Order: sequence, then C-alpha cells, then structure tokens
Amino acid sequence: MINQIIFIFLFFSSIAVFSFSIYRIYHFYLITKPIRYHNWYSRLSILLKVGFGQSKLFRLHFAGLLHALLFWGFLVISFGTLEMVVDGFTNNHQSFQGLGTIYNIINLSIQIMGGIILIVAIIFLSRRLFVNIPRFNAPELKRKGKREAILILSLIILLMITLFFISSSAFAWWLHIILIFVFLNLLPYSKHFHIITAAPNLLLADLEAPSKMKHMKNIEHEVRAMLHPEQTLEVSDIVPERFGIKDIEDLTRKHYLDALSCTQCGRCTNACPANRTGHKLSPRKIVMDVRERMNEKGPLLLKNGLAADDHKSLLGNYITEEELWACTTCGACVQECPVMINPMAIILEMRRYLVMEEGTAPAGITAVFANIENNGSPWQISSDQRTSWIK
Ligand code: SF4
Ligand code: SF4
Repeated sequence: MINQIIFIFLFFSSIAVFSFSIYRIYHFYLITKPIRYHNWYSRLSILLKVGFGQSKLFRLHFAGLLHALLFWGFLVISFGTLEMVVDGFTNNHQSFQGLGTIYNIINLSIQIMGGIILIVAIIFLSRRLFVNIPRFNAPELKRKGKREAILILSLIILLMITLFFISSSAFAWWLHIILIFVFLNLLPYSKHFHIITAAPNLLLADLEAPSKMKHMKNIEHEVRAMLHPEQTLEVSDIVPERFGIKDIEDLTRKHYLDALSCTQCGRCTNACPANRTGHKLSPRKIVMDVRERMNEKGPLLLKNGLAADDHKSLLGNYITEEELWACTTCGACVQECPVMINPMAIILEMRRYLVMEEGTAPAGITAVFANIENNGSPWQISSDQRTSWIK
C-alpha cells in the first residue's frame, strides 16, 4: 500500500510539472502567427516515410542506422513503461501477463531492443566524448548543447541498465521509474523535445519548394488598390503588418515548431555551402536562436502583451545581417534535415524585413533593385534593349 501511495505521488507530481512546461510552451506557440495547412494525404505519407520509416536519417548511413534503432527501440520499450505505470497504480507485478504468448514475445523484444539502445547510447556517448566530429564542436553548441547531450545519453544508459533488472530487483524498478519521470521533465527544456514535436513537425512540413518566397496578401491588396481604385477593399485588408521577421512575434507557428523540433544534429550546417566556405552562417544556429529568443522574450510577451519590448530582437541581438546575407538559398539545409525543418524560410523572412522595413541590403543587391525599378530588368540596360546582344 505504501508503495502505491509513493508511486501515485511521484506519478502525479511528474505529470503536473510536465504539464506546466507544456502549458508554457503552448502559450509561446500561441504568440506566433497561425498558418493554414492542406493536402493532408501527402502530409500523412511524409509522416509515415520520414517519421516512422526514418528515411532521411539514412542519408548518413552509420549514424542514421543507429538513430533509427534508437527510435524503433524506444517505441518497443514504451510497452514496458506502460506496464510499469499500471503495476505502480495497482501494486501488481507484470500486470499484462494475461496476454500470454504475445506478452512473452513483447517482453523478449523489449529485452533485445533495450540491449540495442544501450549499445547505441554508449557509442553515441563515446563519440561525443572522445571523437572530434566537427558538427558536434561548432560554436553554437558550446553554450550548452554538448553538456545536455552527455546528460541525456548518460540517463538513457542508466535507464537501459536498470531495465534489465526491474523484474528481479525492487531497487532497480524504483530507480528505473524515477529516471523515466526525470527524463520526461527534462524533455521540454532540451533538444530531446523533438521526441514529442518531430511527428507534428513532419505532418506540417512545407510541401512547396523550400526557396519559394511566401506570397504577401497585404502587398497584393495594395497593388490591386492602386491598379483598380474603383474596387472597394476592406480597410483592414490593405493595412500592412510588419513585413518579414524581426523578432519572435513575427514568426509563424511552423517556424517555432521547427525550432522546438531541432535535434541539433548539425546535418544542415554540415551541408551548408556558406558555412563550409568559411562564412559566418550556420542554419542550425538560426533555428537554435529562435528557440532561445522565445525562451527569453516569451514570458515578457505573455505577461505584458504583444507590444512589450525588452529592447532586444532576434534580428540583431541573435542573428546578424552578415549571417543572413551569406545564405545562397541553395536549400541544402532543408534537404538534409531529418525532421524537415526549413532554416532558410526564417532567413528569407528576415531578409524581407531588412529590405522592406529597414531598406537595407548589400550594395550588389541594391544595384539590382535600382535596375529593376529604373530599367525593368536586373541589368543596367532597359528591357526594350534586352535582345540587342543578338545583333
Ligand atoms: S539555404 Fe542558405 S542556410 Fe541553407 S544550406 Fe543553403 S546557404 Fe546554407
Ligand atoms: S535544423 Fe535539422 S539538420 Fe539542422 S540541426 Fe536541426 S534537426 Fe539537424
């Protein structure tokens, strides 16, 4: 009976803390702008292929296989965790035993997958500690990324070791369940939150070409109003919002979900031609900055409303113009990301802010704008001369 009371107390305390963390993140999410989704059939097939099939992970063969094993392993052992919770509530031992042969097969699978997870976690931890892999030693990870990864991997190793003894040792059983509660409550504050957000992020992935600039309805309305003054448009339709992204309140919900889903694997940065040629741009850092800035400013906006200002912004204090203009818009980061995050979308929207709100752009681009405005072409010749080179 006393065991039952302790378990129920620990269970509900853990769920209460976890719910508070999720509640906080959900309200941050509501600060951002909603967008509409369609084409649910394609979305579902992406979720099955990239999410459950882990197809994009295999672009790096060895690391991809290990990650996929980790993912599938956790899916299998979650059955055992569910049974432990039922055992805890009912003060029983192996509550699902009544399933007979199926139970024995699942139990055996749990033991096998537990062993595989243990081996994979040890390999990952050794890699972090003893192997110099450039994508794990980037400046943006020096803040807390490496420590966090080591902590979580150590927790997973402990979880798997205790898993093997939960049937024979009460101490192992309690340690295992307490570690699960600790793990659960670390998730919302770590990159491992992707365990929860990766699936919805895949479901809501961008289906269009990654470099396609999003259509701006308010601009269209302004142009229409100029071309067809006889048409009456709703005043609210033609008042422009801020163009592009300066700070977190300008983000869409998908941008923020991207930031919550980032595994910090660095595959995007590894593939980024700007980063590889020594420019100060890391798509992983862009995504990490969004999450960090939301953690900084989100509480202020929730407390004092969207107009609250802390005299800082995502653009400027976190992400510099130099980083933004280093992007070639090649889309390699989007292509490589195993959870279909689009760092380039944030970069493009920040550039849009710089050009349309601040009127700033590198000299080469300003010249192109001037040519388009004056000549109707990006070159220093007018559009009616565009075929002269043939003569
Ligand atoms: S789109 Fe930009 S950030 Fe992404 S890989 Fe290409 S250059 Fe790098
Ligand atoms: S954006 Fe994607 S590829 Fe880049 S670090 Fe995050 S999860 Fe990895």
